[in-house]
Amino acid sequence: MLSKTVAELSAALDRKDVSSVELTQAYLDRIEKLNPDLNAYITVCKEQALKQAADADKQRAAGNGTPFTGIPIAHKDIFCTRDVLTTCGSRMLHNFVSPYDASVVERLQQAGAVTLGKTNMDEFAMGSSNETSYYGAVRNPWDSSRVPGGSSGGSAAAVAADLCAIATGTDTGGSIRQPASFCGITGLKPTYGRVSRFGMIAFASSLDQAGPLSKSAEDAALMMNAIAGLDSRDSTSLDHPAEDFTAHLQQSLKGLRIGLPRDHFTADLNPAVQTILQDAIKALESLGASVTEVDLPHNHLSVPAYYVVAPAEASANLSRYDGVRFGHRAENPVNLEDLYKRSRSEGFGDEVKRRIMVGTYALSAGYYDAYYKKAQKIRRLIKQDFDEAFKSVDVILGPTSPHTAFKLGEKNADPVTMYLEDIYTIAVNLAGIPGMSLPAGMLQGLPIGMQLVGPAFSEARLLNVAHQFQLNTDWHQRRPEVK
Ligand code: GLN
Repeated sequence: MLSKTVAELSAALDRKDVSSVELTQAYLDRIEKLNPDLNAYITVCKEQALKQAADADKQRAAGNGTPFTGIPIAHKDIFCTRDVLTTCGSRMLHNFVSPYDASVVERLQQAGAVTLGKTNMDEFAMGSSNETSYYGAVRNPWDSSRVPGGSSGGSAAAVAADLCAIATGTDTGGSIRQPASFCGITGLKPTYGRVSRFGMIAFASSLDQAGPLSKSAEDAALMMNAIAGLDSRDSTSLDHPAEDFTAHLQQSLKGLRIGLPRDHFTADLNPAVQTILQDAIKALESLGASVTEVDLPHNHLSVPAYYVVAPAEASANLSRYDGVRFGHRAENPVNLEDLYKRSRSEGFGDEVKRRIMVGTYALSAGYYDAYYKKAQKIRRLIKQDFDEAFKSVDVILGPTSPHTAFKLGEKNADPVTMYLEDIYTIAVNLAGIPGMSLPAGMLQGLPIGMQLVGPAFSEARLLNVAHQFQLNTDWHQRRPEVK
């Protein structure tokens, strides 16, 4: 039962095959058994979850259910939750309880979802392996010596190991798609502004976007129905007409034009990954899609541009952690400066400090034009590349990551090798367009994801392509054996 999708669980709840209280208890039992090893959750909300489940059972019995009524879910610990700890994976917020819920949390709660807990993540969402978390690394359920990806690694591991039905994540440069790829699940980063950032702890505000990590494209569509839409509390939230993301899942792929970026399919890409993607492309062609090559001439500049823009924004966003208003406060400060200095030195980990320094440098007088302004220009060129490509294709397909999940500790010596993890995902954030990752094959017992990218507001189309692929393949149904 615990491996079922949201759509299947919702039907089972309707048929009264199981109650939400029973389901929630079963997930809680599994979390208790497996989380000590996986470390996917930072906080488990046992009593609150059982209470929400009991309420949800009443709602369904009264005929007031939505697809999420009584469905046990998990939130990345970057989303503020009233009455429940929100750490953002940092010592800085080890004691922080928000006075309000994030919009994403609120909307899912209004839809009747049961919150099992808050999932582990890289500190302030900075990382690609979950190893920068103050709460320790998360283990990949497929192989406990490997990382689950990051920064939404806790959410990805929890979904893959059946420690929840579906989870929320955030993606600033790849943090939904890359862990989805490493854990063999489906993940969607929506168009920038489509999902409210209110109550989502800011990393790089012009790039951050929330989205689902799920067991199927259909489930991702269901979650988008619950969380997308205008929110007056987020000034960058877009006023786009409400959409039913499940409405086009069944649409045929006849006539779909797929673009393959020439620079993604080079000799540098692992040949085994190439073969897996070629098979996936063949499957889509047999469903009526056609394939051509496209150019994204500035893609190779996306990682360097991102590592100027994102740290610059982070350095500004993280200035609010001063030890005064909330979060970690150094003991016995001798004066105000000492309070600031020691609270921040003690509260932030190494990677966060590195980003604050890089960002502050890039924004400082004399360097602003050379770095920040130049990075913003590259960002525009990257956006234009996509606009050009989408004149001749509907979606762009490629790898999500150059490889399968790597070993814990493998990439910690040199930050740049870790930054290169996002080589296929970051351009999508810089351009503000939607991208998703879905399981496309297995390599030596580990999942491989493929990425689909579309123009702004094409989420329904991406979900349609992914759903049709999942109706005709079973990669998304593979589950790790976790004991
Ligand atoms: N890995 C990238 C980084 O470390 C992206 C992280 C993210 O998407 N939150 O910044």
